[in-house]
Amino acid sequence: MQDLDIVIKNGTILTMDPDSTLIEGGVVGLKGDTISYVGNNRKEKIIAKKVIDANGGIVLPGLINGHTHAAMSLFRGLADDLPLMEWLNKYIFPVESRMDADFVYTGTLLACAEMILSGTTTFCDMYLFEDEVAKAAKKAEMRCLVGEVLYDFDSPNYGTIEKGFEYSESLIKKWKNDPLVSIAVEPHSLFTCSPDLLQQANALALKYSVPLITHLAETLSELHDIKERYGRTPVEHLQALGMLGPHLIADHCVHLQEKEIKALVQEGVKAVHNPESNMKLASGIAPIPKMLDMGMIIGLGTDGCASNNNLDLFTEMDMAAKLHKLNTMDATVMDAMTVLRMATIEGARALGMETLTGSLEKGKKADIIIVDIKKPHLTPMYNPYSHLVYSARGNDVSHTLINGKLVMEGRKLPGLALDEIMEKAREKSGDVLRWLSDEGSGVG
Ligand SMILES: [Zn+2]
Repeated sequence: MQDLDIVIKNGTILTMDPDSTLIEGGVVGLKGDTISYVGNNRKEKIIAKKVIDANGGIVLPGLINGHTHAAMSLFRGLADDLPLMEWLNKYIFPVESRMDADFVYTGTLLACAEMILSGTTTFCDMYLFEDEVAKAAKKAEMRCLVGEVLYDFDSPNYGTIEKGFEYSESLIKKWKNDPLVSIAVEPHSLFTCSPDLLQQANALALKYSVPLITHLAETLSELHDIKERYGRTPVEHLQALGMLGPHLIADHCVHLQEKEIKALVQEGVKAVHNPESNMKLASGIAPIPKMLDMGMIIGLGTDGCASNNNLDLFTEMDMAAKLHKLNTMDATVMDAMTVLRMATIEGARALGMETLTGSLEKGKKADIIIVDIKKPHLTPMYNPYSHLVYSARGNDVSHTLINGKLVMEGRKLPGLALDEIMEKAREKSGDVLRWLSDEGSGVG
């Protein structure tokens, strides 16, 4: 217990390791960016540059937001309570077509601040100007897997799709071996991408051994659209294009038949569940309990916060547990442990990052959060897993460490000028309103 950089003591440690080991009054020791000790304090003298007293709180792996569009933080509350296509066509697409690099950087930095403050240490992003997303994540010192959105139309970032593939490839090369940023290839969806685009994206992902990420079977209109165009369901379509495999991460997976789940599991495809977005946009309810029973690896995501409207994975866990209990009329499905695993180690497995993060184990990168339980709504505590899923909220997180660095302590962000970020975000909201008035879309 010597020569450590940081030691966290006096907490209930939920390791989320394969045995879900829980250590009361345990110690986590960090050396550089890595966890070097997890266990009971064997009454050894602790010598470390910094000792963090968890003050009886819960110490657990940082949460993993498996699917988001971080910069959409700047559209939060802009237009709610609308049918999906009207929301997209009247509000989201018109403003997205006017965005620039600084807009995405600002929105992502704002999102990173929100995520760190609510205990998220890794996020997976799909958006435009992803180099800016990577830069913002680096500035905020967050771990991320990001990729430029690809589709059949021209993009305000890269122009034509040929340039989109070049841009994606340049991101892969630029961020290779970065300690925090990883790159994926991200065709938007089956209804916005031609079969040719999808197959080219697949080939690019395979060429560089990076993940391929897409929205899949999110809505009934997608299901009908793909059936009409190709005579197949979305999963059958990907299967026919030869794209199912362990490199594929499928977001949403709401409308799946049992035989399709079987095919996805057999091919090693991973999924990310976004219950709040699916509820808010009335997309449907993904058959998550069945998918888990059939052996699928599933993470949890918030989706963009225009369809959520926050990036708090604690509320996402709460919703995930309750939505499926109600849907199946079975209170035993999606228990707290299962849901917390989806937000930690299973989320890491879904993103292919389980050797790096997702659990507190010796040798893994130190992505750790502490939840302060000295609060009325968390007192008393019989079961910490239950508290995290059903009672805690993001603002109960007192400390966030990412890659061995303390990025939030006592609700303060030492590395980010939060007031300036929020001021800049307010300025950008003025641009959004101007762009919408140019389009003739009122915001009321
Ligand atoms: Zn999405």
